[in-house]
Amino acid sequence: GARLLRNWISKPLADLKIIQDRQELIKIFFNNNLKRREIRSILSSIPDMERLIHRIITNRINPKEIVALAFAVKVIPNIRKIIQEIGQDLPQIKDLSNQIIDLNDFSKKILSVVEEEPIGLVGGGKIIKKGLNKELDIQRGYIFESREKLASIERNMKEKTGINNLKIGFNKIFGYYFEVSKSHIDQVPEDFHRKQTLVNAERYTTSQLKNLEFKIINARDKVSSMETELFNELCVSLSEYQNDVVQVAKIISQIDVLSNLSEISVENNYTCPTFTKENKIDIKAGRHPVIEKSMPFGKFIPNDIDLSNDKRQILVITGPNMSGKSTYIRQVAMLTLMAQIGCFIPAEKAEIGLVDQLFTRAGLSDDIGAGRSTFMVEMVETANVLRRATSRSLVILDEVGRGTSTYDGLAIAKAVVEYIHNNPQKSCKTLFATHYHELTNCEEYLDRCVNSRVDVNETGKDVTFLHKIVPGASKRSYGIHVGKLAGLPKEVIDRAYDLLSDYEGNNQEKTTYNNYYGFQIPMIDQQENWISEEISSIDVNLITPLEALNKLSEIKKKSQEINDDGKNL
Ligand code: ADP
Repeated sequence: GARLLRNWISKPLADLKIIQDRQELIKIFFNNNLKRREIRSILSSIPDMERLIHRIITNRINPKEIVALAFAVKVIPNIRKIIQEIGQDLPQIKDLSNQIIDLNDFSKKILSVVEEEPIGLVGGGKIIKKGLNKELDIQRGYIFESREKLASIERNMKEKTGINNLKIGFNKIFGYYFEVSKSHIDQVPEDFHRKQTLVNAERYTTSQLKNLEFKIINARDKVSSMETELFNELCVSLSEYQNDVVQVAKIISQIDVLSNLSEISVENNYTCPTFTKENKIDIKAGRHPVIEKSMPFGKFIPNDIDLSNDKRQILVITGPNMSGKSTYIRQVAMLTLMAQIGCFIPAEKAEIGLVDQLFTRAGLSDDIGAGRSTFMVEMVETANVLRRATSRSLVILDEVGRGTSTYDGLAIAKAVVEYIHNNPQKSCKTLFATHYHELTNCEEYLDRCVNSRVDVNETGKDVTFLHKIVPGASKRSYGIHVGKLAGLPKEVIDRAYDLLSDYEGNNQEKTTYNNYYGFQIPMIDQQENWISEEISSIDVNLITPLEALNKLSEIKKKSQEINDDGKNL
């Protein structure tokens, strides 16, 4: 189902009937926990049938895969039985189960030719079922039972000649031979032909041994070609089942995706959204399905959204950095997308008017390879949205205008909001997350533009981001607080607050850089350079521990002096 799920996500539906069919099926699995688990467990034993039948047709399948497919096909009737039990009255289930055709013959055919536990590759002699082909069995006997055959010849020959230490051996040049020690060569029968003389022994062959050697050596080639031929014949004969197997595979992948989406919905407390003809998106207590999972249970703060073309078409969302603006607008887009693949969504309740297209302009990236800067990429994407969106579309814009200077960016951002609001063909539902506070006055002169902000709890200099979206515009951006969270040095944070109060009061800067910090920061760099040069000039293999200690003390002293000099500057 993984491939199918990817396909569903990349092609969300605009057809309400198909969405609702999927919802009905998910509901059936959702409401039958035991049966769903049973199906999931059977599914876990089924390989990628579509890929395997394709490998059979193109003759690239290996014996283990073909057997796995044969066994997988055998368990499919169990899945059909279960879905019929849980959804007997549902036309969608009937439709699915009718398409699961019987592939018993297909499975039987494979298992009548191939061993249930084949070993190695085709041609190795351990693939084709015993008893299927007499000649193959005989030839395999020469390969796999030659040891016993040779032992029996050796035993008989010992009895016949009375030579107790006679033994059969093999080497690559002379092949199989009888070896007789020099002390017994007078007992050697006449039909023994000498092959090789050693210091203490003679080696012989006989027509019987030569004959067997010939058979053993040829058996490998014969087995290889016979087994390959039988396996290929099987693959060719299976091509008549291709369409049936592909059809069943498609249904099985649907059941896999649907039952999996149900399982996820049960595990994560998702609900089934309803659809409306109205052009709106109304979600109560929605959650971001991915961010939610990355946090301890219950820590994610749910948020509502109420967008509608006639009243609340554009939401301008302001709030501090890191407060959750991006998460919120992406969440709305994700939940809408999930709803339109037929899936349940992480929310308490949702009513959604079908969206025809979903546009996002989010995240900063460049495309230097194609000669496009960050800002150019941002503008190309925004232009695309404005060209193609319709009144049925959902658009999320994250920080449009950020990639250029303040006034340029602000001007573009505002013009974009006005264009979306005033152009009847483009009047799409829009979520616009921005750090430009100036955009919040759009609410005053654009009827369907509404401000929202992320709530913040402020006590003195302590700030807590509540991640809750509430009506109204944000007053501040709390960038310095985020800098503090990120671990900027205290001096930088204090200085930044000081400068901020200057800027906010529109005063001249009262303090200057140098007298604020009281020392020159670049000195630190010089010192680090000096120390690293000094250390890399030392050869640790040549220096004694005492010299090392002295060197360390010298470096420390010198560094102290530089530091003191720096402070006095
Ligand atoms: P912004 O776009 O305002 O800079 P983000 O959306 O990137 O902020 O969110 C920053 C972080 O805040 C997220 O990575 C997440 O850890 C946390 N966060 C966002 N929204 C929520 C929420 N609803 N509940 C809990 N934590 C949240």
